[in-house]
Amino acid sequence: MKDETRLIHSGRDSAGHIGAVNVPVYRASTLLHPSVETLEGNTLAYGYGRRGTPTTRGLEASICVLEEGERTALTPSGLSACTTALMAVLSAGDHLFMVDSVYGPTRSFCNTTLRRFGISTTYYSPTITPDRLHALMQPNTRAVFIESPGSGTFEVQDIPALAAVAHAGGASVLVDNTWATPLLCKPLTLGADLAINAATKYIVGHADALLGTVTANASHVARLMDFHGHFGLTVSGDEAYLGQRGLRTMAVRLARHQETALKLAAWFAARPEVERVLYPALPSDPGHSLWKRDFTGASGLFGVELKPCPKQAVAAMLDGYHLFGMGWSWGGFESLAVTTKLARTVEGGYRPKGPLLRFHAGLEDAGDLIADLEAGFDRLNKVA
Ligand SMILES: *Cc1c(COP(=O)(O)O)cnc(C)c1O
Repeated sequence: MKDETRLIHSGRDSAGHIGAVNVPVYRASTLLHPSVETLEGNTLAYGYGRRGTPTTRGLEASICVLEEGERTALTPSGLSACTTALMAVLSAGDHLFMVDSVYGPTRSFCNTTLRRFGISTTYYSPTITPDRLHALMQPNTRAVFIESPGSGTFEVQDIPALAAVAHAGGASVLVDNTWATPLLCKPLTLGADLAINAATKYIVGHADALLGTVTANASHVARLMDFHGHFGLTVSGDEAYLGQRGLRTMAVRLARHQETALKLAAWFAARPEVERVLYPALPSDPGHSLWKRDFTGASGLFGVELKPCPKQAVAAMLDGYHLFGMGWSWGGFESLAVTTKLARTVEGGYRPKGPLLRFHAGLEDAGDLIADLEAGFDRLNKVA
């Protein structure tokens, strides 16, 4: 079956739920047992609310099928999916390779909490060669964390090549796949051990719930479920339901996000105010060939570097947009525009000279969006 079909038919049990097409919301902490035997023996599929309900298990099953993994765990946010994956594979005294273009709060977690527990982090350039990574591997390196394309700068990483180096050195490979979703890229089939998604973004898809997923291959299921269970991570039926509901339409939404993002990106690239557009789906992008090899499509998020101009000019442009809201979490149906601040500690990767912006192409009409963007450049040029 194709993914578009799996999206619709996975994780459902209409016969078990009065014919309801989607698994309804279960709200439950206590689950009553019919006998001492099931109470003491832990033999029921559902024994305690924290360990899952049909609503959460349905979403887990859908994501797991899409990721082509062995088991999926839900977490209360995308960030907690990143931190759960890291905690599942790292112990005191271990060393972590973290990509320099990682989502900011994941970087903060490494620099504070992981450090406090005796785990050291080395940042590597998103454009590192596999040979260079091989040379930098330490005897205690236990994880290589990849995020592709990178947050803010959109570099595409060679997941299979980096995974081969990591595995040869005895390290696990973790991939934050939020930009692509498991529909457009499947990290586990490219060599990753744990695939991470901020389901908050395209899976929920409507900017109204926070949710994360971590999917393990067979060799990493026990480690993932151990940490997840011991830490007491759980997701409410309401949030899981919103994730499942969003997932059903994700294929058509993503196709439209990509179509519009390509139009906007091409339009930006032709503007005199623009230095560069950062979007791997553009043939001119340095990550284009890797993207073409490993991804089956692009989502709606891309970067725009402006030619150097005053801060007030950028503010005038963004403040006056009617259709592009200013908000951090993308992947919903609405268009967004934000300024981007980079935290980078190693050489390599993309470095803008002018103001760097990030746009999310929503599901509005592309012509309306371009008219809003055009008026924005008029405001910018008046101040600049
Ligand atoms: C947004 C995002 C996260 C965090 O997701 P939240 O649900 O906001 O915690 C993690 N990784 C990436 C790449 C993201 O874009």
